[in-house]
Amino acid sequence: MAILKAKIVLVPLGEVDFILVNRLATNIGPIFNRSVDILKGMRVPEESYNVIRGQNYASVILNKLERVKANQREFILGLLEEDIYLPDEPYVIGNSDTVSRTAVVSLFRIRQEFYGLPEDDKKVFTRAYKQSIFHLSPLFSLPSCRNPRCINFYSQKMFDIDSKGTKFCDLCNRRLSGAGK
Ligand SMILES: [Zn+2]
Repeated sequence: MAILKAKIVLVPLGEVDFILVNRLATNIGPIFNRSVDILKGMRVPEESYNVIRGQNYASVILNKLERVKANQREFILGLLEEDIYLPDEPYVIGNSDTVSRTAVVSLFRIRQEFYGLPEDDKKVFTRAYKQSIFHLSPLFSLPSCRNPRCINFYSQKMFDIDSKGTKFCDLCNRRLSGAGK
């Protein structure tokens, strides 16, 4: 019997545009050469909400996401509209945990409306796609990249996210083909 490869599972948390989630699922699979499932959505965990900050704590969300794993081969990516944070950061776009192999990406600052600009679905998809790949990469043992053109370039600022490309650089591609088995 063939050894089963890790599968990526997308989990919408709360109300998330299903067309966007679907498009992400279709595009994320090929870049990691993995199949992608979309799980029926779950609620944004209430206990992740910090009343003082008005944001949701990313680590609590990752914890919750770990519990939806059907087996150890599943890599989970949660998507939500809410703003998320880590204690030492004013905000984060996403976060990952390599031990539980879970990741989360927030669309809050990815949306143009956050900057008082008109909606732009194309931009939202491209940004969400780049950051989904960026936050899934550590789960495939791929450290963040120093090449500002690489999709795996470390980026939290929208300018850096918009400036980087939509593909792995050669170095990341080589590392990826030797990891994440
Ligand atoms: Zn790279």
